[in-house]
Amino acid sequence: MPAQKFLNDSYIENLIINNDYASAAVYLFKSQLNGWPLLKKNYDALESVQTESFWFGGFKIKVQFNPERIKSTSAKVDESSIRNRKCFLCLENLPEEQKGIILLEDYLLLCNPYPILPQHFTISTVEHKPQQISNAFGEFLELSKVLSPGYTLVYNGPACGASAPDHLHFPAGTKNFIPIENDIQQLKNDYGNIVQEDGIITTSFIDDGLRKIIFIESNDKEEIKKTFKLIYQTYDEQSGVTPEPMMNSICSYDTEFGWSVIIFLRSKHRPECFYKNDPERILISPAAIDLGGVVVIPRETDFLKVNKEMLHQIFNEVSTDKRTFFLLGKKVKTELR
Ligand SMILES: [Zn+2]
Repeated sequence: MPAQKFLNDSYIENLIINNDYASAAVYLFKSQLNGWPLLKKNYDALESVQTESFWFGGFKIKVQFNPERIKSTSAKVDESSIRNRKCFLCLENLPEEQKGIILLEDYLLLCNPYPILPQHFTISTVEHKPQQISNAFGEFLELSKVLSPGYTLVYNGPACGASAPDHLHFPAGTKNFIPIENDIQQLKNDYGNIVQEDGIITTSFIDDGLRKIIFIESNDKEEIKKTFKLIYQTYDEQSGVTPEPMMNSICSYDTEFGWSVIIFLRSKHRPECFYKNDPERILISPAAIDLGGVVVIPRETDFLKVNKEMLHQIFNEVSTDKRTFFLLGKKVKTELR
């Protein structure tokens, strides 16, 4: 591994010895802001980014006009496009100024130079291997725990929002910035159907009219893994999509309450309006952060045009349908009993 790609001075080493990864992340972020002009420029721009909020029944969806995200929003992620490009998460292709911190031996914490969140990271595997949650879910939970005081973790499936479907990675960023992190208990109360509750773990299926959400809460990692595995397998049989059933996730950890895992079930990658010709075209390509309530819009014309009805249409189109969601909830409830 090329040593110059790692930030490992004595200050960082000391934080890591004490398992203080959240402080190490802050230190990496500040150090990269000083040493990487593109990063500084894009985080400065984010501070004055235009946003607008839309209120639905008891919850909020923000739209963010963010021109720097154009590449990611319009990224071609089909097999041949991926094969014919250099993987931007592989160590040898990282920008010269970029440095990272090793997490849990196999992962590298990197600053994302095209941010949506006030501090926005990418946690990628050191090794180039496919984006797949089934083998990495335990690590997803563990990484969210070690970064928990300050950050939330995100997962985007290879066919529904990951910009590198060939290289395993988790976006991470400022905790409680994504509206659903604050809204989830209310969503559970207003729209939730509890399918598992035994004092150790609570699992709810939530249909809020825009999204199809599964919400798992527990302090017990093994119980969460068991429930997730059952949901994954049932959903996999039901949807028959390869390489994995379509989902996005947002995960955070709290020392008192444990993990909060929010899963969005998907039916497709992009809404129809994405593929239309201008002026009908709207460049919105929803992934976890968008579904969580920060919808990224890279073009100003789209930002000025977007309204509640469009968001309702887009969210419904890319989310799994009511019937599939209902049947999945029913099956999972029976199995968990
Ligand atoms: Zn790679």
